[in-house]
Amino acid sequence: MSDVRERLKSARRIVVKVGTSTLTYGEHGNSKLNLYRIEHLVRELSDLHNAGREIILVTSGAIAAGIGKLGLSEKPKTIPENQALAAIGQGVLMHIYEKFFAEYGQTMAQLLLTKDTAADEHARENSRNSLKTLLKMGVIPVINENDAVSTDEIRIGDNDNLSAMVAEMINAEVLIILSDIDGLYDGNPKVDANAKLIHEVAEITPEIESMAGGAGTKLGIGGMFTKIQAAKIAAKNGIIMLIVNGQEVGNLRRALNGEEIGTIFYNA
Ligand code: GLU
Repeated sequence: MSDVRERLKSARRIVVKVGTSTLTYGEHGNSKLNLYRIEHLVRELSDLHNAGREIILVTSGAIAAGIGKLGLSEKPKTIPENQALAAIGQGVLMHIYEKFFAEYGQTMAQLLLTKDTAADEHARENSRNSLKTLLKMGVIPVINENDAVSTDEIRIGDNDNLSAMVAEMINAEVLIILSDIDGLYDGNPKVDANAKLIHEVAEITPEIESMAGGAGTKLGIGGMFTKIQAAKIAAKNGIIMLIVNGQEVGNLRRALNGEEIGTIFYNA
């Protein structure tokens, strides 16, 4: 076992990505916000910030929050409808984050990025400057993709890749992806009781990729495919990445304390 988890204790610049399944009551069949989890996440992030860490949050959940707000029973199929829901839900989401962060005396800022932010050198430089300035001001940037204006051609599409892009852009030391499962398994834990959690990945081999569902699968195991894509970006840039179960309050702190939870990806 390597000592990579020791490095988490002193990591200063950390990107945390939280997914829709953690932020909503999807497991109860609806898209309403899980205020309990959101509040605990915000408290944890504010506390980590108080302890001297620089925190950047990448959050999904805009479309789900829009669905919840309108009381729809399912996700609409057309792109314009989903874009409209993202525009509705993004405000709802930020309202909740702002309220909870304010309760803990923490200032936050919203940034909505697109694929162009990474591809266009000028836009990239501008976003990097504003992010770094916010961090210097002691603010926690809260980032999502600008779904309301991002058509297919210019979409990143998933926030796993977006969070890796952000981590690379601002030279973060650690990227933590909060998911609805404990980490990467060597099989599908939903159907195979013998599937084992992999604690450490020092190299993303074809075998590791196949565990995530392979390139041909749309969703992979619990959306693991896009997480492996993010891990590749992280590894290439010397960033440690962790997948941790975000459904349990307190896991973020435990991971940063070096406890052996979730899956850690690093460059050996
Ligand atoms: N940006 C989308 C949203 O906020 C989610 C993308 C993802 O889940 O990865 O609804």
